[in-house]
Amino acid sequence: MAQHYLRTYQPFDLEEVKKNLLIIGDLSGNCASCNELGINAYATQSCPACGAVFKYIASRRLETHPAERFQLARRLAEKRPDLMLIDYQDYQKSAGAKAARDFFSL
Ligand SMILES: [Zn+2]
Repeated sequence: MAQHYLRTYQPFDLEEVKKNLLIIGDLSGNCASCNELGINAYATQSCPACGAVFKYIASRRLETHPAERFQLARRLAEKRPDLMLIDYQDYQKSAGAKAARDFFSL
């Protein structure tokens, strides 16, 4: 049976996501919590710098390569079944909105 990847929407605590998020770029990943770079996204359970345990994964490539989106989603699901794939752009937008709110409420 062919498997398809459909995006879903769920409420998340942004701080909780940030503390456990691995962001994958073209070649390697970075920790959303401390911005440590060069993390092997396919084989790293926790951040070597800050110790954050990864539960979520977001990929920049899904935005820059929209035609490959579902192929990438499949590969990530196969390589990292332990991580929940979230949409990078959604995360960025929410993080940006939160930063703006925090700034203006100072
Ligand atoms: Zn880290």
